[in-house]
This record gives sequence, C-alpha cells and structure tokens, in this order.
Amino acid sequence: MNTFIDFKIKILDCVGVSSMYYSTISLRRLAKTFILKSIDIRQETHMTKRQEIFNFLKQADFSARELSKAVSIREKEIYDHLQHIEKSAKNKGYKFKVFAAQCISCGYTFKKRDRLTRPGRCPICKKEQIDPPRFQIV
Ligand SMILES: [Zn+2]
Repeated sequence: MNTFIDFKIKILDCVGVSSMYYSTISLRRLAKTFILKSIDIRQETHMTKRQEIFNFLKQADFSARELSKAVSIREKEIYDHLQHIEKSAKNKGYKFKVFAAQCISCGYTFKKRDRLTRPGRCPICKKEQIDPPRFQIV
C-alpha cells in the first residue's frame, strides 16, 4: 500500500485539498484514476499490451474491466494476458494476487474459484450483481 501513500501525496498536490475529506475508498478510486492517467507507465512506446498490464498491476489492484479500458483492448483478451502474466510474475519472483469476486447482494466471496474471470451469478442468492475479481502484482 506504500504506492497509495505516494499517490495520495501526488493527488493532494493536484487537487489541493486536505486528505481529511477523503475516505479510504474514494482515495483509492482517485489513486487509480491517477495511475490510469499517468504517462510514465506508458512512456516506453515499444511496450506490449502485456507489459503495460504488468506495469499497471504493479502499481495497484485492478479488475479486468479497468485494465481493458486502460490498455484499450477487450476484456476477454485481458484474461488471456492475465494467465500469462500470472506465470511470468511468479517467474520474476513477484506474487500475483487475486482479490476474490464478491456478491454485491449477500456478500458471498468466490474464494475457491480458480478461473480469473468474473463469475456469472451467486451460488447462494442467485443474484447476478457480482463485484469482479481484482488483480495485483506484489
Ligand atoms: Zn449472493
């Protein structure tokens, strides 16, 4: 979470307001927006989509949809990249963290799920509003 502290400082510099007005959640959201817009991550133009995704995941946790918007490819392709990124992250000595998907209605967490994709619906309450899994490289 150290990166978030750095980003917090940067964001507060940008918007010029006191941190006391920000809850942790809105701060995380702001930090993510900041990361997604930051140019230095994508400075090297020769970077592949996979490298771009890798770099984003080293900064913070992202869902496949967020990554899809960030690197301008379809969500489906993100999952293909993530499978490779998971392996290469481990080979490079990083940890590929998966924050489990969660049912918005009842709070059920999809902890035992091996697949990286978003689950279709909740096995407990059968609702389809699922907070998607998020990924991060640490
Ligand atoms: Zn549920």
